[in-house]
Amino acid sequence: MFENLSERLSGVFDRLTKQGALSEEDVRTALREVRVALLEADVSLPVARNFIKSVEKKATGQAVTKSVTPGQQVVKIVHDELIATLTGEADPGKLKIDSPPAPILMVGLQGSGKTTTTAKLAKRLKEREGKKVLMASLDVNRPAAMEQLQILGVQIGVDTLPIVKGEDPVTIAKRARTQASLGGYDIYMLDTAGRLHIDAELIQQAADVRDAVNPRETLLVVDGLTGQDAVNVATEFDDKIGVSGVVLTRMDGDGRGGAALSMRAITGKPIRFVGLGEKMEAIETFEPQRIAGRILG
Ligand code: GDP
Repeated sequence: MFENLSERLSGVFDRLTKQGALSEEDVRTALREVRVALLEADVSLPVARNFIKSVEKKATGQAVTKSVTPGQQVVKIVHDELIATLTGEADPGKLKIDSPPAPILMVGLQGSGKTTTTAKLAKRLKEREGKKVLMASLDVNRPAAMEQLQILGVQIGVDTLPIVKGEDPVTIAKRARTQASLGGYDIYMLDTAGRLHIDAELIQQAADVRDAVNPRETLLVVDGLTGQDAVNVATEFDDKIGVSGVVLTRMDGDGRGGAALSMRAITGKPIRFVGLGEKMEAIETFEPQRIAGRILG
């Protein structure tokens, strides 16, 4: 279909390196190609434009034309700029889970991987940090979603709040808090309902739950393969509910990380974790270096 970003970049910079000396015009020509490649990698147009502008300024300022290996120097500037844009928090994997029981609110569209991510994070908190975690599904419209979380809970050895039919999400959230307090849990994770599209009811429900429990973290789960849509979803959720971080799922797919760059540049929200598959272990702390490497190849 279209040329891989890393292939394109290496092609461009190979040519530059071979030229030996770089004129400003060379830099501009190279960066035009980088811009096209970024767009093809699903980076949004304004983000790609700003990114290129910033790199061009730095490249020119650093007198690339006089450097010994100009091509490599431009690569380094592009790489450093990618890292700078992608970096959100020094330690993105560290969740605010002091003062137990700490509520973590999980939000996102249906199919984004929210329930899977809830269980993956619960497992991680249990195994890596020795935390006692309680999970609760608030998806009252989809009993199957509640059962899915329960099944995952059994699989990973993490408790789930018993399902009581007919309760509304706020009541379930409060019941989770009570059970977490009484049961000596460190954390309770609330898996909110998802919809295929953002609608007023979905947002209101999440906002009501937020107001009821005052979460320490509100993590938005978005499908990393959906590019610009992922950014739009994040912008909307953040405006309406306020999110403390983003989890990008399906980063095991053949997406090129463009969504990560746009997400950071447009929403300013830190990416905290990436989902790398369907298995319960398939989650990692977000590492800007890795994504930058993937974008550059
Ligand atoms: P929800 O509707 O947002 O709760 O989505 P689910 O958690 O049910 O996930 C939907 C599907 O995506 C399931 O088949 C998951 O196994 C799958 N999934 C979730 N996260 C990832 C991921 O990081 N990579 C891949 N390849 N699949 C994922």
